[in-house]
Amino acid sequence: MSDNSLRLVWIYPDLLSTYGDQGNALVVERRARQRGLDVARLDVRSDQPIPTSGDIYLIGGGEDRPQRLAAERLRRDGGLDRAVGNGAIVFSVCAGYQILGHEFINDLGQREPGLGLLDVVSTRGEGERCVGDVLGDIDARLGLPQLTGFENHQGITHLGPTARPFANVRLGKGNGTGDGTEGAYNDTVFGTYMHGPVLARNPLIADLLLKLALDVNALPPIDDRWYEALRAERISSAQQPA
Ligand code: GLN
Repeated sequence: MSDNSLRLVWIYPDLLSTYGDQGNALVVERRARQRGLDVARLDVRSDQPIPTSGDIYLIGGGEDRPQRLAAERLRRDGGLDRAVGNGAIVFSVCAGYQILGHEFINDLGQREPGLGLLDVVSTRGEGERCVGDVLGDIDARLGLPQLTGFENHQGITHLGPTARPFANVRLGKGNGTGDGTEGAYNDTVFGTYMHGPVLARNPLIADLLLKLALDVNALPPIDDRWYEALRAERISSAQQPA
C-alpha cells in the first residue's frame, strides 16, 4: 500500500474470467472504496506485462485452452512471481488456481508447468466433471463464515505439505480428491474452485484480502444487508434437493 491507495490488478480478463469472475474485482474495489480507500484498478490483458507493484492480484477461471495460454504467458512474464516475492496478495479461481500450482494437465493432455506459487498439483479427473453448488467451512484460522460457491471443473487438485486447505466441503467436490478439501492457501496466496463470483457470495473473503493488504486486523463495518440476502438465498437453494 502506498498512501491511501490500493493497487488492484485483475489478471488476463481476455483469457480468465468465466462464470462472472470479473465480479471479484468489482467487489474488492467497492468494499475498499466504502472504507475510504482510493483504488487504482488495473485490468491486465494477456499481451501486457504484469505490474509488480500491485497490492492484490485477482485471477479467474477459464476453459482449457485459454488456461494453457495464460500459464505460458504468466511464466514468460514472471511479474506475478516477483509481486508475490514483494508480499503481494493473490486470489485465484479454478483455472487460475491450477495455474498457481506446480503443474496441471492442459488441453492437449500434457503436463503444463504452473507458477509454483502454491504447493499443489492438478491432474485430470477420470470421473464426471465436478459441477454444482458448494457449501463448506473455511479454515478456522481465517475466521470467516460458511463458504458458498459454484464449481465447474475437470481438474483435481492435490495439496502438498506447505499448502493448507482453504475450506472443507459439506456439499460439492472442491479439490475433487475425495478428502473433502476445497482450495488451498499459504501466507498471501489463495486458490479456490469457487465461482459465483465467489467474492460477491462471500464478501468477507474480500475483506480478508483487504486486511492483509492494509496489514490491519479489522476494517470499518459496512452495510452488508444486500450481501447477506444474497448469501442466504444461495445457501438455501444449494441445500434444496436437486
Ligand atoms: N479447465 C479447468 C478444469 O476443467 C478449469 C475450469 C474452470 O476454470 N472453470 O479443471
